[in-house]
Amino acid sequence: MSIYPLRPPVVTIMGHVDHGKTTLLDSLRKTSVAAGEAGGITQHIGAFSVTLPSKKTITFLDTPGHAAFTAMRARGAHVTDIVVLVVAADDGVKPQTIEAIQHAKDANVPLIVAINKIDKHDANLDIVREGLLKHEIFLEEDGGETQSIQVSALKGKGLDDLEEAIVALAEMLDIRAEVDIGCEGYVIESQVEKGRGNVATVLVKRGTLKVGSIIVAGRSWCKVRNMVDENGKTMKQVLPGTPVKVIGWKELPNAGDEVLEAENEDLAKKVTENRTLKHIREQQVKDLEVINEKRRQRKEEIHEERSQMRDMKRAVWMYYQGLLPEYPSRPPPVVKPTNEDEKQKEYDIYTSVIVIGDVSGTVEAVVNALDEVGNNEIRVDVIDFGVGDVTESDIQMAAATEGGIIIGFNVKAGKKVQSEASRLKVDILTFNIIYKLLEEVKSRLTSLLPPII
Ligand code: GDP
Repeated sequence: MSIYPLRPPVVTIMGHVDHGKTTLLDSLRKTSVAAGEAGGITQHIGAFSVTLPSKKTITFLDTPGHAAFTAMRARGAHVTDIVVLVVAADDGVKPQTIEAIQHAKDANVPLIVAINKIDKHDANLDIVREGLLKHEIFLEEDGGETQSIQVSALKGKGLDDLEEAIVALAEMLDIRAEVDIGCEGYVIESQVEKGRGNVATVLVKRGTLKVGSIIVAGRSWCKVRNMVDENGKTMKQVLPGTPVKVIGWKELPNAGDEVLEAENEDLAKKVTENRTLKHIREQQVKDLEVINEKRRQRKEEIHEERSQMRDMKRAVWMYYQGLLPEYPSRPPPVVKPTNEDEKQKEYDIYTSVIVIGDVSGTVEAVVNALDEVGNNEIRVDVIDFGVGDVTESDIQMAAATEGGIIIGFNVKAGKKVQSEASRLKVDILTFNIIYKLLEEVKSRLTSLLPPII
């Protein structure tokens, strides 16, 4: 078995607010030999590499905090090899310190503690140590395994020691990766840039990323047109553990998306098309759930209104029959009809429809528009709705409801479905213009109204 080359460790800085994460990242960035050589202004690309005098390299993710770490992890992106836990010596272990410890433990990522702000007169190392001990972080000086380094991020003190500690831990972890295979990695961040279009910082985990490579991330793909590092230096190829800004994406990928190399453009297109279709489908299902919920609520309201209206009408009828002494002023409690005669007196009319549309947005629009049609006497009752072509089961459902009809919007009904409809005497009305649909429904409703006597 061949041994793969070592790759730089990827480090995330975590800790309580105001304990100095941002200051530490800024100071570490300044220690980079590469940044000094380039002499240029470093840009924020989501991560940066620091090369030590020993030529060893460390990559830092430069979005401090837990949200970025957990968001990436929630998306299945295991990017971080080592967590640097910043604890301010004048403040000790605080809620977000504990949270960071938990995140690192959950992700099975080893910690190094950076005890910060040691320049302050009220720095108290014992409090920090006790706090850590309480949360089962055993420091080396107490016979444990976790390294702790005293630093002052503000004064730039102890940074070399911290970097050495990271390198030592990385060597112990023996972080290696194959280089002569197609590229695999993660998107760290992405944005649209003037003149560059869609750009995304990719952190390579395995293989080599080259200009001209075809890569896929999420629902986007890219023929790598150009790559630049955080110092604005153009890169022809990038090895594992190195972050690089990649230019040439068709769409904007998301942070946390896995990056994989594709053999050719056709394959990349196919993969992203499939993912896009899947995404649309998932979105439709979600939309439908929302509509379903709205419908359920609306149905309950309509049901309530209707039953009150019926009660009122029944009460009025009873008054004229001499069964109630006074004209009813408000709906009395529900009185169940006792015979067929009374049932016939309920002259609240409605027509039942099933709405089928091509996309969930349209279905929602049609359903909402139909809910508005009618008045106190007459209404449309959408008993069901769906996305796709009309099916036989839609017909059967409509047939099971008295006078039920199907309203299709931008959809077709196949021959089999049509013959089932004529067998069960269910009307299928199809439209592709919403106002025509509403006109037709209104005229149908009007025809159902009893003649005025
Ligand atoms: P973050 O919220 O963890 O990113 O913390 P910041 O980096 O924003 O630092 C919070 C405050 O602490 C700022 O006012 C920093 O200047 C200060 N600070 C950070 N590191 C040190 C340090 O080593 N010594 C001192 N005295 N102040 C520091």
